[in-house]
Amino acid sequence: MIIVMQAGAPEEELQQVLRRVEQLGYHPHLIRGTQRNVVGAVGDERGKARLQSLEALPGVESVVRILQPFKLASREFRPKTVVKIGEVEIGSDRLVVMAGPCSVESEGQILECAHAVKAAGATILRGGAFKPRTSPYSFQGLGEQGLKMLALARETTGLKIVTEVLNPQDVELVARYADILQVGARNMQNFALLNAVGEVRKPVLLKRGMSATIQDLLMSAEYILSHENYDVILCERGIRTFETATRFTLDLNAVPVLQKLTHLPVIADPSHGTGHWEYVTAMARAAIAAGADGLMVEVHPKPEEALSDGVQSLTPARFQELMRQLDPIARALGRTL
Ligand code: PEP
Ligand code: MN
Repeated sequence: MIIVMQAGAPEEELQQVLRRVEQLGYHPHLIRGTQRNVVGAVGDERGKARLQSLEALPGVESVVRILQPFKLASREFRPKTVVKIGEVEIGSDRLVVMAGPCSVESEGQILECAHAVKAAGATILRGGAFKPRTSPYSFQGLGEQGLKMLALARETTGLKIVTEVLNPQDVELVARYADILQVGARNMQNFALLNAVGEVRKPVLLKRGMSATIQDLLMSAEYILSHENYDVILCERGIRTFETATRFTLDLNAVPVLQKLTHLPVIADPSHGTGHWEYVTAMARAAIAAGADGLMVEVHPKPEEALSDGVQSLTPARFQELMRQLDPIARALGRTL
């Protein structure tokens, strides 16, 4: 349920509402707006009749039921979320591009990559230090050493850092280095991990599971939001279909559907979505045209030598060309790069 306060309702009336919500056994989530404040009351739906009675409290304009099963992620709860990391905004008119290698491989590799993607216009550097690999014999990432290399790349370039966290025990460690915690497709329904990243005050990039519906993705986002970490960015990265010509099928339908259902920013990952560098630029253009708030793109200085996902990685020169091609599309949509 959402309790909408009257415009200009005094703070005491708001505090009274928050107290009553708690007394009724619900968890209040307060969103302070410029016009009016809104309180989300989340908990067992069976008590909703009692919540409805809060309409009688002073300062309350209305009590409205959220129809979707995801409550805090629902567009009914909040019109729009813009995630802010210093001067970088995700979900505003300015598109955000996160780029870098699949894995952090060495100091030289990540620094070279960081300088290249920055020069092309990216504002966030990606790179996995903990890698979820299908085979236990594949490169598993450099761990904390990799995180330190990412931190060095941030220091030298000013780029923000997004990197994946694989399990709840590592959340604190990864959060010490990262600006954004990535939860990968294979972990989208790792509820212990979702609860753990919800407890951290760092933005979370939640990638859609390869067999997850849009509703599943939003229910996973709800786990994070329910811990009062409201800075969640959703990422469409391709789903499994019967098609074998590409690694996954980038479901760009998800972009406008998510934008209708949720206030959270939505980005797309055409690298994993296609699995081949030759298709990445076309699908990146398509994702921005579909209304995505940004992209995550794999870039490697020498894709043929990459320890993971080389086939889908762009060279710095191809990435620069991709950024150039995005510019008129962004402008046609009233957005900037
Ligand atoms: C990645 O970003 O390198 C990655 C492993 O992505 P996903 O979880 O989407 O497969
Ligand atoms: Mn990858």
